[in-house]
Amino acid sequence: MRKTTQIPSTVTIVAAPGDATGASVRVMLMPAPPGICPVCAARHESWLPHDPDSLRYRMTFHAMTGRPPTWADAIAHCGDAMRALWTAELNKRGRWSEPPVASV
Ligand SMILES: [Zn+2]
Repeated sequence: MRKTTQIPSTVTIVAAPGDATGASVRVMLMPAPPGICPVCAARHESWLPHDPDSLRYRMTFHAMTGRPPTWADAIAHCGDAMRALWTAELNKRGRWSEPPVASV
């Protein structure tokens, strides 16, 4: 029997307008089928980017970070040459995305 993955996250409970509180929750995910990337649930080699549009990746990433994944996140685990290749190609196609810069 495959084990589920539990991801810590938070939710905001709004009891009434202006009455919101945060609560800790655990998102439970079924494991990806064998041969499928356990992070994004797409079929790809481990050295290739995750699919930033996959529902599993988006839900998991958002639960862990509080924001949706970007291409910069999806290629973060790749080697230098692979990251450079994907960054260049995505920029050429106007598809590159990266996390917002935190304001000070
Ligand atoms: Zn993946």
